[in-house]
Amino acid sequence: MRRSTDRRKKRRRALVTGGAGFIGSNLCDSLLDDDNEVVAVDDLSAGSRDNLVAAFQSEDFRLVTADVADIVIMDHLISEADVVFHLAATVGVKRAVNEPRLVIENNIKGTDSVLRACGRYGTRVIIASSSEVYGRNSAAPLRESDDRILGPPQVQRWSYSASKGIDEMLAFAFYNEFGVPATVTRFFNTTGPRQSSAYGMVVPTFVRAALAGQPLLVHGDGTQRRCFCHVSDTVRALMLLSEAEDAAGEVYNVGSTEEISMRELADLTIRLVGELCPEAILAEPAIRLVPYAEAYNVAFEDTPRRVPCIDRLHELTGWQHSLGIEHIVREMIAQHGAGA
Ligand code: NAD
Repeated sequence: MRRSTDRRKKRRRALVTGGAGFIGSNLCDSLLDDDNEVVAVDDLSAGSRDNLVAAFQSEDFRLVTADVADIVIMDHLISEADVVFHLAATVGVKRAVNEPRLVIENNIKGTDSVLRACGRYGTRVIIASSSEVYGRNSAAPLRESDDRILGPPQVQRWSYSASKGIDEMLAFAFYNEFGVPATVTRFFNTTGPRQSSAYGMVVPTFVRAALAGQPLLVHGDGTQRRCFCHVSDTVRALMLLSEAEDAAGEVYNVGSTEEISMRELADLTIRLVGELCPEAILAEPAIRLVPYAEAYNVAFEDTPRRVPCIDRLHELTGWQHSLGIEHIVREMIAQHGAGA
């Protein structure tokens, strides 16, 4: 049985969609640590019960294996919840390129189903969106009011961005028309424990490759820059926003402001694997540049830079990221190196 960190806080019944996934399972753990009751709903299409080993230790936790588009199940679950964190989605650029129809349908249907049920019960809901909504806009830093700059619809890479854009517009429509207290969070790259390399997420992919003695495949020329936020920081932002009433009807960037190029990330991973796991035999060459056309097999457009402005979130909650990229890579090497 978990211990409460603050017994004076109001105990809430939280519903986490996508709760068996990477961010969702970390969120379930934090909500339980904070003495809440938690129901996770997940169809296990990408998530896993293994991510919930810690959560299953708590009698305050339950997993419902279901599709969030099932309006009957969602109506029942949301009728019993004080707050909903909607994270269920088909995620990532690789899947957007390979399975655009699934990405579009799954993400929009799921969000519509969640918002409809929240509308019936007036339930507080946090909707997970993505920095992908900014598309090719590489202004730095990106503010929540900045324009979306997308390539043409026939470039499948933008399907994930488009689906998240519609999710956001649905959230604002339900807020404006029915007063649903919805808040949108735009995550920039989030990484850390339990993130799978299955769909090409770059940090676990680099770490796994280096530990297996394979070259790190850097797409393009490796000068594209991103900011990586530790999942514990992302989860902290979600919990703060769920408690901030002023956040209803608003959108917030959530991300680290520490920038790194993909080439620098590959170099850092190789240096840290050499330091922490000297028995790992690094490939020669250790880094291989792969043109986008070869990596994705279709026309691909990337954005050179993505840095969040987090002023809005910081002003409302005091949030800023606390863990840097070197900590994140070290931790992931320790976990994967230990066979995790
Ligand atoms: P994830 O794939 O680990 O988690 C998504 C979960 O949703 C999975 O467990 C999957 O099984 C579940 N799911 C998918 N469709 C479902 C459905 N129809 N019904 C029930 N469950 C379903 O991905 P994640 O990285 O944890 O992402 C969580 C959320 O954060 C997503 O909405 C994603 O778009 C968003 N996001 C993540 C990042 C990131 O860097 N990780 C960045 C931007 C946005």
